[in-house]
Amino acid sequence: MFERTSNIDYVILEKTSSVKALGSSLGLDASSLPVMEQLGLLNDFNAVSKPVRQFNFYNEAIESIGVVDFSCMPEIGGYPAIILDRPAFYNVLLKKLPKEKILYGKKVSSIEHDEHSATVKCADGSDIVIGADGAYSAVRTNMYKDLAARGKLSASDAHPLSYDQNCLVGVSEPLDPSDHEMLRRETCDFEIVIPKTDPFYAIYMPLPGNRVSWAVIHNVPRAEAMAGDTKLSEWHPDASVDMSNFVRHQPSPFKGTLGDIIDKTPKELISKIQLEEKFFESWYDGRVVLLGDACHKVVPSAGLGANLAILDGVHLCNLLVDIPSTSLENITKVFENYYEKRSKIAQGALTNARQFGKVMSDRGFISEVVRKLFLNYIPDWMTRWSNAQRLQYRSQLHFLPQVPDRGNPKAQPQEPRMFVDAQVA
Ligand SMILES: Cc1cc2nc3c(=O)[nH]c(=O)nc-3n(C[C@H](O)[C@H](O)[C@H](O)COP(=O)(O)OP(=O)(O)OC[C@H]3O[C@@H](n4cnc5c(N)ncnc54)[C@H](O)[C@@H]3O)c2cc1C
Repeated sequence: MFERTSNIDYVILEKTSSVKALGSSLGLDASSLPVMEQLGLLNDFNAVSKPVRQFNFYNEAIESIGVVDFSCMPEIGGYPAIILDRPAFYNVLLKKLPKEKILYGKKVSSIEHDEHSATVKCADGSDIVIGADGAYSAVRTNMYKDLAARGKLSASDAHPLSYDQNCLVGVSEPLDPSDHEMLRRETCDFEIVIPKTDPFYAIYMPLPGNRVSWAVIHNVPRAEAMAGDTKLSEWHPDASVDMSNFVRHQPSPFKGTLGDIIDKTPKELISKIQLEEKFFESWYDGRVVLLGDACHKVVPSAGLGANLAILDGVHLCNLLVDIPSTSLENITKVFENYYEKRSKIAQGALTNARQFGKVMSDRGFISEVVRKLFLNYIPDWMTRWSNAQRLQYRSQLHFLPQVPDRGNPKAQPQEPRMFVDAQVA
């Protein structure tokens, strides 16, 4: 987004030496796709993704237990939700990014900032630092150390991230489409197996190229979840073998078992990760600000995290591009506005994602009844209403030509331009 402005210079510091082809997929929806269209990336995304039609739910005998239909998404938001693998997502973004703007192998370890500039150890000084460095953000850790030293860190922020689910993800090699009708469809249905007894459920998402992205989500008793264990939260294939063995017996909608799909997945494309959840209360301090998972980590069940992070970026970029000077006073105004607007939305998303995740993962009689009601008796108007809520914010970059709002109902109005509108008034 900064690339398309003429007055913001920037550099991206990435700790890894290259973008890794990790095995997982990502769903984007009408909240972030208008910006992708503005940036000229929509056709690229369409070429490497499948539109999502519906979620099909099964029991352990692969008998249908319900369907949630998402075919109303294009009408509501103007775009279908799309699903693509993560490397494809990064490749589309990187295509338009000048190579010199991203510095690989630059791990941020500390930050200093004062009235006039912010400096990360490993880069030159700059006006601000945006910490978009994920759930275990080093920028956040630094910022919170400073806040704690000044007695300004809240009790909640002082608490480490915790998790109560483990997740195993992978992307298979191409399967034979003549064996699987699901692969021959133009659209993608999520095939979700929720067994009665196993403490985990599995999601299968057909991708372009006859591949299947899959994820297994395993409830972990709170006591076993080691809060703040950074090593396990990194995406890494090593930790995945035990969990693969634990889940492989479960029948799959692709004939055979989950183990058969795991066996068709290159080992380096299988990762075990923890699904943490936390809303952080402090998002900025001085010239440093957080964005995405660094300040609001949602569970992935509702496919919201990346869409939220993109819209955080749009909001910040729209404010920064208008800033008359980079005085601390103006920067503080920008960050205050950003926090005020985006934090409410992030908190709502956190609750929605948690509720959706609980419907799928909770076990026991009451949860079974709730799931049955959710999957079979929710009226169409309610599904539509809930999707309209989800897609109501479809912000665009104000400094690029606007793409038409093709959704119904219309999106929430664009945020006022703080500096420009204030001058006009
Ligand atoms: C299994 C799974 C499925 C998901 N599916 C969806 C979905 O369908 N739709 C959706 O919207 N969201 C989904 N999400 C959530 C989504 O992936 C995240 O919310 C999103 O990636 C957050 O983006 P981010 O930029 O904040 O952080 P990240 O994507 O975590 O990016 C952080 C970057 O910072 C780098 N970094 C970290 N530390 C440092 C450092 N010290 N110095 C320099 N660089 C550093 C990392 O290498 C990384 O490149 C899913 C998540 C999971 C786990």
